[in-house]
Amino acid sequence: MSEKIIHLLDTRTVANAGAALVPAQPIPATGLLVDTRGRTVRDLRISVTDRCNFRCIYCMPKSVFDKDYPYLARSALLSFEEIERIARLFVAHGVNKLRITGGEPLLRKNVEQLIERLARLPVEITLTTNGVLLPQKARALRDAGLTRVTVSLDAMDDPTFRLMNDVDVPVGQVLDGIEAAHAAGLTPLKINMVVKRGTNDHAIVPMARHFRGSGHIVRFIEFMDVGSSNGWKMDEVLPSADVIARINAEMPLEPIDPNYPGEVAQRWRYSDGSGEIGVISSVTQAFCSSCTRARLSTEGKVYTCLFATEGHDLRSLLRDGRSDEDIGSAIGALWQARGDRYSEIRTAETAAARKIEMSYIGG
Ligand code: SAM
Ligand code: SF4
Ligand code: SF4
Repeated sequence: MSEKIIHLLDTRTVANAGAALVPAQPIPATGLLVDTRGRTVRDLRISVTDRCNFRCIYCMPKSVFDKDYPYLARSALLSFEEIERIARLFVAHGVNKLRITGGEPLLRKNVEQLIERLARLPVEITLTTNGVLLPQKARALRDAGLTRVTVSLDAMDDPTFRLMNDVDVPVGQVLDGIEAAHAAGLTPLKINMVVKRGTNDHAIVPMARHFRGSGHIVRFIEFMDVGSSNGWKMDEVLPSADVIARINAEMPLEPIDPNYPGEVAQRWRYSDGSGEIGVISSVTQAFCSSCTRARLSTEGKVYTCLFATEGHDLRSLLRDGRSDEDIGSAIGALWQARGDRYSEIRTAETAAARKIEMSYIGG
């Protein structure tokens, strides 16, 4: 094992011992917490379930996520009250954006009640979904205080989309979800397409064509080596530069400035003014130096990197009756110790190491 992997393992296992997370000296919440690389904490991604009604081949392949897969027990899940409390403590440390994710977050019973609680905080609240349950849920989510949604869709043609989701869901069902979110005012919508070379890259241009002029922003995401079960290979990553070249050949594009420093997607607009797209190049152009994201798993572990091997267990602190000051200090300490930069140091060896699954940690 390389020194780099050992370092990633070390920093997390030491901190993973529940109460040991609370530092001897309290760390007051000033809203300006920084890690060892000078990065603040701004976004918290909250996974509300590790289950999903899709089996996307790059995320929850059927061969691994079958009926015997050990999903979390109900008692292991954080309650909405517990999630709200952790979110509030992160907000005090500087988080200004919450994203609800999973697994498929709309499968979590009464998820709109969680949104309603979180909407009391002074933050933007977004949610990422595969879209299938949006026709039933969009209005309630909006009424509860959700700001926007991102809908994942990996092709515009049924054979390719069915191959990607692997549960036979047709494109039309996701388009109905997008329409419902639009009608409910959860706009501007973002549409995420994961590009896997040789599987759905022929769907890039049709996707751009379909959503051009709609006001929705398609973001093309490089296939990442998250988790250990998706059989990731570098050859199956289509660099974002190629995505841009293919679209630009038919619909001329020009780059535009980020909306805010550290924005993950690089923005491009159609030269004729008919909208914008984004590319997320986590493999070919790592953006660790500006990564301000923390992730809260369904069972209450905090991960400071998508590619982490271990999390920091806040649930045991919550359930041991620890004070807000203790839990806030634990959050402060784990962020101050953070040195993650996995995508900058990715090698074939790190890619093959055992990592947490995307469906558990939250995308
Ligand atoms: N189920 C919801 C969905 O699909 O939108 C939310 C959870 S999903 C894990 C969040 C995002 O991660 C989705 O847009 C999905 O396409 C993306 N994703 C999952 N596995 C990925 C991988 N290996 N590489 C790049 N993106 C991935
Ligand atoms: Fe489910 Fe989202 Fe993963 Fe697809 S990407 S399997 S919809 S969690
Ligand atoms: Fe952030 Fe980790 Fe991704 Fe780098 S690899 S951008 S530190 S989540």
